[in-house]
Amino acid sequence: MGTRIFRFAPSPNGRLHLGHAYSALFNQKLARQAGGRLLLRIEDIDTTRCTPEFEAGILEDLDWLGIEWERPVRRQSDHFAEYEKELARLVAEGLVYPAFMSRGEIRAHIADAEKAGKRWPRDPDGTPLYPGSERNLTERKRRHLMASGTPYAWRLDMKEALLRFPRRLTWQEGGKGPDGQAGIVEADPDKWGDVVLARREVPTSYHLSVVIDDAQQGVTDIVRGRDLFHATPVHRLLQQMLRLPEPRYLHHDLVLGPDGRKLSKSNGDTALCEMRQAGRAPDDIRSRLGFTSVQAAP
Ligand code: GLU
Repeated sequence: MGTRIFRFAPSPNGRLHLGHAYSALFNQKLARQAGGRLLLRIEDIDTTRCTPEFEAGILEDLDWLGIEWERPVRRQSDHFAEYEKELARLVAEGLVYPAFMSRGEIRAHIADAEKAGKRWPRDPDGTPLYPGSERNLTERKRRHLMASGTPYAWRLDMKEALLRFPRRLTWQEGGKGPDGQAGIVEADPDKWGDVVLARREVPTSYHLSVVIDDAQQGVTDIVRGRDLFHATPVHRLLQQMLRLPEPRYLHHDLVLGPDGRKLSKSNGDTALCEMRQAGRAPDDIRSRLGFTSVQAAP
């Protein structure tokens, strides 16, 4: 087997907290145990919320924590042209379509259906599925709306994709899912409906760029929090559609706050920079998260 490649892929829309530290340390530990490589990727496609200051903060916090990563660091905002190219391919293949309904229109559509007694399906995050009503707009209507400046999203035509790629989709899970799923897990991307793969002003989305980058960077092992377990079926489908290799996955436990909830960037007291300022040492953080000294050989 070739060299195993791991990655830690934070978004610079806030400072890193204990949950990120756990993920980074875990990736580093597994990469070292495997005699593999660890990459860092900055996921900053949301240019309204991501800033260079947060990116610098991430590098500083990781360095303080004793994480070592390869350079150069891949920054997603430097690769919009690559995502656009793959998106154009999906457009040409008729696997995505432009959808013009605003969030408010989608909400109203669903509220009407629910008032009429219909149980509206929800995605694994609990968000009501997009109705799919624009899947069959005529080409003329689409061109007209696109030219008129109406904002739109490129949505995956999930039904069409599943028709064209009917192979049973699975992935190899080295951790476990929220319901204890492990081993070879069956991927069921249709639970997500017609997910957004790009927007008029941004030629990509989290799902699209993450699969393109992992393939570009030769990532063999995706080790990330369990909150992303349910996104994996979409990633597996996209990997198939874009003819990308299949990596292994390991979804790890999340570090929970005192209220038992997932940490967020607003949990200031678990931000690594706050802990550092309060005089905590990197070794305190590592042992609190169950890791031995960073220098220890596996
Ligand atoms: N950028 C994502 C996050 O910060 C992680 C993406 C991934 O690991 O696939 O939550």
